[in-house]
Amino acid sequence: MIDTTKHQGQRRQLIGQLKVAGIKDQSVLNAIETLPRHWFMETGLEAFAYIDKAYPIAAEQTISQPYTVAFQTELLTLNPGDKVLEIGTGSGYQTAVLLQYDITVYTLERQHELFKKTSLLFNKLKLRPKKVIFGDGYKGYPAAAPYDGIIVTAGAPIVPKPLLEQLSIGGRLVIPVGKKEQIMTRFIRKSEKEFDKQTFGSFRFVPLLENKN
Ligand code: SAH
Repeated sequence: MIDTTKHQGQRRQLIGQLKVAGIKDQSVLNAIETLPRHWFMETGLEAFAYIDKAYPIAAEQTISQPYTVAFQTELLTLNPGDKVLEIGTGSGYQTAVLLQYDITVYTLERQHELFKKTSLLFNKLKLRPKKVIFGDGYKGYPAAAPYDGIIVTAGAPIVPKPLLEQLSIGGRLVIPVGKKEQIMTRFIRKSEKEFDKQTFGSFRFVPLLENKN
């Protein structure tokens, strides 16, 4: 896959916009500057890769907006060696941003078409999530729990209990909560039973879909 100096220039511009929009974490800015987003776009839409917007992908889903990817990644406050679960693999772009860190990444998708397509893309790009899982995000992925971070990239009408249960002590769950509009929310697990909850403004995501499998 190609990455031209033109693409790189467009990414630098995008980074400038993300900074103006309030993204401060240098590690996430570096990740977005390094990673070609056009590799994750649908055929025909590549030219829009460095516009700060969400775009359609297969199965009526979307590739998240760069600002949203940056914002959620920042909220995860990643440390080297962390184990992270992503709910909603989609195009694989957010997964690839996470893989720029020295962490272990699990990613889960419920649409079989996207699960297959994006798994192949990861192989092609030599990106190595620990596991790409075909499953239901409401249940999380208990087999590899606990996680230091869980990131949900679809709008959740409710906070699924299993996701809170699968956090380590000190672990962070970053989840957009709401139906039509979502409030970005972060839960930090303080102890077996206690969670800190913080909210960070409103966003619009495609919905986290209930059991289809
Ligand atoms: N992280 C993706 C965002 C894709 S949009 C990206 O950067 O491209 C949200 C994704 O969540 C879609 O792929 C959708 O199929 C998936 N999704 C929706 N409901 C889900 C569920 N219950 N479990 C797992 N994935 C789900």
